[in-house]
Amino acid sequence: MYDLVQRKQLKSTRQSVGLVADETQRQARRADVALENLEMRLESLITANEAMWQLLCETTGLTDAHLAHRFSELDRSDGREDGKKQVRANPCTCGAMVNARLTNCQFCGAPAPDRSFFDTI
Ligand SMILES: [Zn+2]
Repeated sequence: MYDLVQRKQLKSTRQSVGLVADETQRQARRADVALENLEMRLESLITANEAMWQLLCETTGLTDAHLAHRFSELDRSDGREDGKKQVRANPCTCGAMVNARLTNCQFCGAPAPDRSFFDTI
């Protein structure tokens, strides 16, 4: 009798493990698809940026050297030269630290200090 109970519990456990494994595989597939979509969007955004930059160069006389210089300035503005601009939390007039991605203080509603449009993206 005890053996039958153990076999039934073992079968139930195997089924549960199988269900978890199936769900894990589904989640992994969804993550792969989401990653592929993000990569496609990133490639499209890079191409759109390049197209806009070329139009700006053609109409304003700006060059790649201008862009590289400004990129380097922005990169170094957070204190690290690592190819990206890290947006940090800043203190609000109320004394709270305002989350880097917020346009207004999450406590008092005052506009976040020193935020550009791109800092909020
Ligand atoms: Zn505030």
